[in-house]
Amino acid sequence: MAAAIPKTMHAVVVHGPEDYRLEERPVPVPGDGDLLIRVDAVGICASDLKCYHGAAKFWGDEHRPAWAERDRIPGHEFVGTVVAGDPAALERRGLAEGDRIACEQIVPCWECRYCLDGAYWMCAVHDMFGFKGWDGAMAEYVLVPRQALTHPVSRELPPQVAAFAEPLSCAFHAVERAEIRFDDTVVVAGAGPIGLSAIAGARQKNPLQLIALDVLDEKLELAKKVGADIAINITTDDAVARVKELTGGDGADVYIEATGHPRPSRRGSTCCANSAASSSTRCSRTR
Ligand SMILES: [Zn+2]
Ligand SMILES: [Zn+2]
Repeated sequence: MAAAIPKTMHAVVVHGPEDYRLEERPVPVPGDGDLLIRVDAVGICASDLKCYHGAAKFWGDEHRPAWAERDRIPGHEFVGTVVAGDPAALERRGLAEGDRIACEQIVPCWECRYCLDGAYWMCAVHDMFGFKGWDGAMAEYVLVPRQALTHPVSRELPPQVAAFAEPLSCAFHAVERAEIRFDDTVVVAGAGPIGLSAIAGARQKNPLQLIALDVLDEKLELAKKVGADIAINITTDDAVARVKELTGGDGADVYIEATGHPRPSRRGSTCCANSAASSSTRCSRTR
């Protein structure tokens, strides 16, 4: 396994909105508890694009401080091959050099009240690969710190597919939160990568009806391929009326927002069952 690890690597470095540069950077040296991986593939998330274009969520505005950091290597959707790590760190994670892993994008502090409560994804510090605290994978190597959560990923998968582990998990998290039941009507708005993943996940929960919404017929065809029972093009059809009709006037039990657009969220609450403004994903229903 001892392919020599170089001293420097190519890396994309964030200098500010629309100022990302390809630079030569030192390859990180893992300390106690850390691993080093060689990047197999990295995805470009919608959040990477928003950060690149200077969205206030990342760079702040009059209502909030900046969260993203300059001089940081972006990229949080990645898989890589373990090339170095102290033996204790490898053993603790059940890994060996040569294994392929994916990392959760949030790097928890393990000390705040959320981390201590087990809700590490809510970590108050909210360090995240590629944005804050830790460099990401738009580089040849990534340091995986002791605090990071790692998951083994099969070598059988092509790297660009394996790198989808993070966005897929993100969509599955929404599906899990929705606590889908057998008699539910589930609406997934948006049939892009996250929406399609949510549909594929929701299909496994086997709800009564699984409805996909999008503006493009090609995407709705894909939605049906991954498990939607019904696909509604919101540019040619009245989605709220159709969902009401398909639910005997009640509306959906679960609405999963995967468009990233504010307008469909409002549509979401009108699609939902009576008592309901959808807070997260499950429409509140008294039962
Ligand atoms: Zn992402
Ligand atoms: Zn924390």
